[in-house]
Amino acid sequence: MYDVLIIGAGPGGMTAAIYTQRANLKTAMIEKAAPGGYMLSTWEIENYAGVGVVSGFELSDKMFKHTQELGAEYLYGDVTKIESDGNIKKVHTAEGKVHEAKAVIIASGTVPRSVGAPGEDKFISKGISFCAVCDGAFFKDKHVIVLGGGNSALDEAIYLTTMNVRVTVVNILPDLQADKGTVEKAKKNDMIDFILGHEVASFNGEDKLEGVTIRDVKTKDEKDLDVQGAFIFIGQIPNSDFVKDLGITDERGYIKANERMETGIPGIYAIGDVIQKNLRQIVTAAADGSIASQQVSKYIEGLDD
Ligand SMILES: Cc1cc2nc3c(=O)[nH]c(=O)nc-3n(C[C@H](O)[C@H](O)[C@H](O)COP(=O)(O)OP(=O)(O)OC[C@H]3O[C@@H](n4cnc5c(N)ncnc54)[C@H](O)[C@@H]3O)c2cc1C
Repeated sequence: MYDVLIIGAGPGGMTAAIYTQRANLKTAMIEKAAPGGYMLSTWEIENYAGVGVVSGFELSDKMFKHTQELGAEYLYGDVTKIESDGNIKKVHTAEGKVHEAKAVIIASGTVPRSVGAPGEDKFISKGISFCAVCDGAFFKDKHVIVLGGGNSALDEAIYLTTMNVRVTVVNILPDLQADKGTVEKAKKNDMIDFILGHEVASFNGEDKLEGVTIRDVKTKDEKDLDVQGAFIFIGQIPNSDFVKDLGITDERGYIKANERMETGIPGIYAIGDVIQKNLRQIVTAAADGSIASQQVSKYIEGLDD
């Protein structure tokens, strides 16, 4: 029996673990991939206080070591269900295990949204990728499209050019949504060009991606782009399927949590990208983790009274 089980070891979950361990709560993180969450697929992080410009891998490693130095347990597991059985929470995993705790913090983040165009499923990992850090090197000296116009899309486009990948950024909107500095940096990069107001009509090829047909959203005119890769950064979907029966999600699947990170079910808290919020960043996930941990301490004290 743990005091607290944390689902997901991204920056939110790892920060929560640091706080709960320091509060002398017996803590375990359950993670289905590797510690770091989205940070692991981020090339450089430039906006987390105190670490300057740091690779996503390095920040993940530092945070994970911090949790381990404090004694938080790290369990592998793909969580499929949470049961609230009075004061005991049961966390089920796809591996057939059931872990028990007095409280649970859900920090399961999001997965990248896909385009839904013909050919997409066929070419995932055969030219289509959601992670420039993971797959960018395969496209050295080649031409790819980056789909999206926000910070993630442009940061990743800039990163790809460092590996001598030529990039066409295709965005469905008529402008770019990234912050001004990032837009300027991308526009100054002569390895990047932009096609705005276009969507993907189809991903084309035989065994691997050989081209993409894009469509003007206004005129519906289509044209073919001769590219070998497509990197998709068009938003996220919350990882919350495993709580869909608990009635704590909104219509898009984001978990509803108040400013104390309470979900409405006593003893179940939610933090980071998986909750309804305005800004999904490492620092906001970490902040949520600290707040949830303080509430968990109070909640468990209340149980023990
Ligand atoms: C390409 C890209 C670049 C970014 N760059 C920056 C940046 O420069 N600066 C910044 O501040 N933010 C950046 N962000 C956003 C930032 O990475 C996220 O806001 C942050 O990682 C959210 O943290 P989290 O802990 O809530 O979730 P995540 O980091 O998504 O971690 C969630 C973890 O939960 C695990 N998990 C999910 N479901 C289950 C389950 N059922 N069972 C067990 N484990 C599960 C996942 O495997 C994952 O490890 C970027 C995001 C992207 C996509």
